[in-house]
Amino acid sequence: MKILIAGGAGYIGSHLVRELHKLGKHEIIVLDNLSTGHTAAIPQAVTFEQGDIRDKQRLDEVFAKHKPVAVYHLSASIEVAQSCVDPLSYYENNVSGTVTLLQIMQKYGSKYFIFSSTAALFGMPDRIPIEADDTTKPVNPYGETKLAVEKILHWCDQAFGLKYVCLRYFNACGADEAGDIGEDHTPESHLIPLVLQVPAGKREKVFIFGDDYDTEDGTCVRDYVHVTDLASAHIQALDYLGETNESNRFNLGSGHGYSVKQIIDAARRVTGHPIPAEIKPRRAGDPATLVASSTKAEKVLGWKRKYDSIDKIVATAWKFHQLHPKGF
Ligand code: UDP
Repeated sequence: MKILIAGGAGYIGSHLVRELHKLGKHEIIVLDNLSTGHTAAIPQAVTFEQGDIRDKQRLDEVFAKHKPVAVYHLSASIEVAQSCVDPLSYYENNVSGTVTLLQIMQKYGSKYFIFSSTAALFGMPDRIPIEADDTTKPVNPYGETKLAVEKILHWCDQAFGLKYVCLRYFNACGADEAGDIGEDHTPESHLIPLVLQVPAGKREKVFIFGDDYDTEDGTCVRDYVHVTDLASAHIQALDYLGETNESNRFNLGSGHGYSVKQIIDAARRVTGHPIPAEIKPRRAGDPATLVASSTKAEKVLGWKRKYDSIDKIVATAWKFHQLHPKGF
């Protein structure tokens, strides 16, 4: 099958491209505007098209040339804090850009769409762990843009039979075991790569945003899921669409939460560095606990995670950072 991966040069996208490429079953086309992605993160044998999902003419050229049957969409803006400062650019890229991509898919008759969605859909959740069909009520523009796309997809299915899967990522982390691809954002805002910047000599200490939450040690609890495990869920989602021709949505987490302090402790064990930490005020919009139930993904997609140990996950991220002290 011809598969287009929008955002395939990014962190999660490049791990998906690697796993799909290893399978050797599909023809892969990566579309990326390289705003945050890296061509070095994708195998040379994979076709690369530079382009932005907001650029209808460019999308038309790429679709006319490759006519993909399935599209993975991982090319969104992802900074929660930035989305609160500049909501319109988030709506422009994440909603308007996705509409453009869907219009071109409709024009060229692409059948399947697999969408990178987010735990941010659930805002301050009513219960933990969060089930895939729990109420969605985002508390920031980033989550709102992802929810808007989930709703748009529903109507595209009703109107012209587009079949889609929404995958709500919880905290993607870690890196491919080989250590040659991994998380490289500038500026970095995610906890694990920030913590690892201390043993890497790039910062003196890590800041803990709030220790007065209603959790066991007072710091926020999140569900950390290895990026290669996320990639395998994407591959199973495409198989699912092919087998059932039914749209669906899944939460992707581990069912287990770790606090910020527990993550720093894991990084201390893995790196052998004391990693000094300082308590700072809470970060705006952070729920105390976000943990997913992935039971639906396990039952329906047959998803199984390879990585359940947080030390192992942090070790894969650390390997990437050691091998790439300056990023890609
Ligand atoms: N966090 C922190 N210090 C940092 C970065 C993040 O204490 O330097 C906390 C953040 O407040 C949240 C958790 O770590 O509770 C995970 O944050 P991240 O930005 O990695 O992911 P999010 O859960 O926001 O998607």
